[in-house]
Amino acid sequence: MEDTTKKVTHTEEEWKEMLTPEQYRILRKKGTEPPGSGKFLLNEEKGVYTCAACGNELFTSDMKFDSHCGWPSFDREIPGGKIETHRDTSFGMIRKEIVCNRCGSHLGHLFDDGPTETGLRYCVNSLSLDFKKKEL
Ligand SMILES: [Zn+2]
Repeated sequence: MEDTTKKVTHTEEEWKEMLTPEQYRILRKKGTEPPGSGKFLLNEEKGVYTCAACGNELFTSDMKFDSHCGWPSFDREIPGGKIETHRDTSFGMIRKEIVCNRCGSHLGHLFDDGPTETGLRYCVNSLSLDFKKKEL
């Protein structure tokens, strides 16, 4: 089995070569894709969402819900400390940034206004994610 606890590290030059320019801007420079633009926003297929930079499995399709916020949203994460949160005070707001715990790449933000029983809303850039179609 793949060791998913091992940290993935690359130099900025290596990341630039591995990722598309848009992915690099979001994952490594904490960018945000325009709302409504993401390829996974309306994805309803069954499967697993992974970190686009390192393949860490983060969410499954049954954690996804339609938040109407313009980004793919999830109400929980796959357990096991795959995601780290950091306090983010950029743009004059206090938010929780979510980061892949394996490679340190930026995923999106975590809000506590979710409509489901968890009360959580993981708001994630499609460009930060990859999708593996599979039966859950
Ligand atoms: Zn990662």
